[in-house]
Amino acid sequence: MVTVNRNYLKLPGSYLFSTIAGKVSTFQKENPEARILRLGIGDVTQPLAPAIIESLHRSVDEMAHQETFRGYAPDLGYEFLRDAIAKNDYKDRGCNISADEIFISDGAKSDSGNIQEIFGADNKVAVCDPVYPVYVDTNVMAGRTGAYNKEKENFDGVIYMPCLESNGFLPEIPEEVPDLIYLCFPNNPSGAAITKEKLQEWVDYANRTGAVIIYDAAYEAYITETDIPHSIYECNGARTCAIELRSFSKNAGFTGVRLGFTVIPRELVRDGVSLHRLWARRHGTKFNGAPYIVQRAGEAVYSQEGKKQLREQVAYYMRNAHYIYSELKKAGYSVSGGVNAPYIWLKTPDQMSSWEFFDHLLRNAHVVGTPGSGFGAHGEGFFRLTAFGSYETTQEAIHRITQI
Ligand code: PLP
Repeated sequence: MVTVNRNYLKLPGSYLFSTIAGKVSTFQKENPEARILRLGIGDVTQPLAPAIIESLHRSVDEMAHQETFRGYAPDLGYEFLRDAIAKNDYKDRGCNISADEIFISDGAKSDSGNIQEIFGADNKVAVCDPVYPVYVDTNVMAGRTGAYNKEKENFDGVIYMPCLESNGFLPEIPEEVPDLIYLCFPNNPSGAAITKEKLQEWVDYANRTGAVIIYDAAYEAYITETDIPHSIYECNGARTCAIELRSFSKNAGFTGVRLGFTVIPRELVRDGVSLHRLWARRHGTKFNGAPYIVQRAGEAVYSQEGKKQLREQVAYYMRNAHYIYSELKKAGYSVSGGVNAPYIWLKTPDQMSSWEFFDHLLRNAHVVGTPGSGFGAHGEGFFRLTAFGSYETTQEAIHRITQI
């Protein structure tokens, strides 16, 4: 008889963004005249930069001719892209990462979900709370956790590292020693960034204990302060304890184009086995390569024109972030994030729960944000706004929020 992977049944019902969509759709039906403004989901809104569009057109045309047509891409990615990444994202920042330690993929969601597969089922996982839900849910699916604990609103068997106002929304080294530590900086949802000095403490800790850090740097392009590292490999010793995940979604608007990569240094060995080797085996077996035209688009991200255009695009979103942050602060809200990240994390006023504040904003300002409690128990009492809208929408939404 067929059985199913019952670990999936541990996952609580509704996904955060479906619940939000349901609430918004009901409200819109009941209030058809309301013009709802969305500062909720972390999707970009600006079109692809001209340098990327040109590269896409060029590579699409190559596909029309026998001499330049490309079929399956190399499993691990085309050399032209891996070389561009190794140079621009690592060598130029003083990080010792070579092109053959870079694995091209279709994005950081798949990589952050799939990476746990190369680790044993008995590894103990540590995550920040609140957290990007993919890290936890994929470990639940793999059977690396206990049941969902309704009272605590989290999973048994996972080490949660609360990120609170009192610790500047940064995790503290947990009492119980984890095997796998997921860190994401700049952070989704809180927008917090970690200094190089603080990140070095995590690297030293992982090297001391034998843990592996899975470092999600999907938002590194939004860093504006100089003491904030863009990569974990800026820290000494990270080559022996860290895997880095990167995405083209937020720095270059590839959310619908799909491209990302994972870095695994060759020195990263656990249980006597090279993790680079295991990931190469996994990637080669289960992934048939990101499309040629998309990898060419990725290459254009590193061209001089591409870099300039994308700096402007990121600056456009960061102007929104700055606007949201400063206007809400002026209006008396307690706000954080928004300086090195496109997310603003605000404390709900008047002791409202995250969902109460969501309903309040939807009903009275017709603005949609994301309840902090959707990212974990310690997100309760907080709320996430994103800077990915247009400047005009952002201004209007914040004006409405500050008027109610
Ligand atoms: N990692 C974090 C922390 C994210 O917030 C997101 C998307 O919102 C992703 C990864 C997914 O990135 P991608 O679009 O490359 O799959």
